[in-house]
Amino acid sequence: MNSLLITGGRVIDPANRMDAIADVLIKDGKIAAVGPKLKVPAKITRLKADGLVVCPGLIDMHVHLREPGQTAKETIATGTRVAARGGFTTVVCMPNTIPPIENASTVAAIRQTAASQGTVNVLVAGTITKNLAGEELAPIGSLKQAGVVAVTDDGHCPQNGEMMRRALEYAKMCDLPVLDHCQDNALVMDGVMHEGYWSTLLGLRGWPAVGEETMVARDILLAELTGGHVHCQHLSAARSVALVREAKRKGVSVSAEACPHHFTLTHAAVAGGEAFWKEDGKGYLSGFAKRWELPSWPNYDTNLKMNPPIRTAADREAIIEGLVDGTLDVIASDHAPHCDFEKEVEFDFAPFGIIGLETELALALTQLYHSKRLGLSELVAKFTTGPARILRLTKGTLSVGADADITLFDPDREWVFERNQSASKSYNSPFFGWPLKGKATAAWVAGKLVWDERGSFSP
Ligand SMILES: [Zn+2]
Repeated sequence: MNSLLITGGRVIDPANRMDAIADVLIKDGKIAAVGPKLKVPAKITRLKADGLVVCPGLIDMHVHLREPGQTAKETIATGTRVAARGGFTTVVCMPNTIPPIENASTVAAIRQTAASQGTVNVLVAGTITKNLAGEELAPIGSLKQAGVVAVTDDGHCPQNGEMMRRALEYAKMCDLPVLDHCQDNALVMDGVMHEGYWSTLLGLRGWPAVGEETMVARDILLAELTGGHVHCQHLSAARSVALVREAKRKGVSVSAEACPHHFTLTHAAVAGGEAFWKEDGKGYLSGFAKRWELPSWPNYDTNLKMNPPIRTAADREAIIEGLVDGTLDVIASDHAPHCDFEKEVEFDFAPFGIIGLETELALALTQLYHSKRLGLSELVAKFTTGPARILRLTKGTLSVGADADITLFDPDREWVFERNQSASKSYNSPFFGWPLKGKATAAWVAGKLVWDERGSFSP
């Protein structure tokens, strides 16, 4: 296999506490050397990365690839192409497919398809319970043997505490983390947006913050009881963050993630673009060099319907604070493609979820780095060492000998996300027309170029 030298970039590798201008040498699909002005034979291909960040390939541990069963929305082939465009070299696919990923043969089928059709690494999460029904445990041991990196009923939440306790006990024996979509069904009922001012004004049924917080609290208590690891997915509410912070302080084995829509948008956005920009969206463009036009959208736009919902400005601030102080370990997209015909219905009837892989890095840079809340190295850690630690991966590092999964991004590039630029099969994004700051320009998986925005990195 060929060798490649990426020269002159700002190498940020949180696993090795590195942030310096350096070269990265790839050989036979592995990282061969990292350091300033590496001396290599003249015949080795060189690529200039001046002005760009060179970091370990980004990991997104919360992605819905929709295969098997819902391939009109996305497939392993299209979803991993979308990931590469966003700068992601590894994704963890959620098991709420049709059928669900609840046995070893389904895991094997997905790994096989991913190996032959996937652009980036696909790691598989299995279900906690059979058919995601919360009534009977899935065979966690054989799922582990088949290669899953975690178990989760994402999209659903096991309501029965005893079931969750047993899941944590089995998962602990198998050295697997349990990822939970924290939702108390009795409290949430058929809520469609955050329960508060705007849900009242718009006449939509509320999804109260307490519907998430009670499950976060339960999971923490059960993690403490069992010694298993609980990872709270896509946290949306301020008190959820506070609960995780307190639990971590006590040494409970808990981690948590945040999604870009939860640290960017608020429930005012459901009332339309004007309502959002007037109050909660003020200052969005403050880190931009150019004065851009802000996008507009109507009220009741179903691309603002996600589960858990976008909440108040105070909740959004608490999510950002949680990322800053380390309470939240991971940024993940919850990339959830849905077809136009499914979303183009009344708000009450539309499915929850938005696509997110292509805007994720840019929104994180815009909202956290350019707003001067988080340094670049800390931000990269949320996409690399954060998920790698929770999932026990040897990825997310530029250590010599590691797979040459590498992402290049321009942290200062200002651009607008357009519908016709997306590689996804689905178009359910609220961020079309949004000015964004920061963009992935290239990515390699095991030394193979999988994304090259300008066509300038192809040897
Ligand atoms: Zn979920």
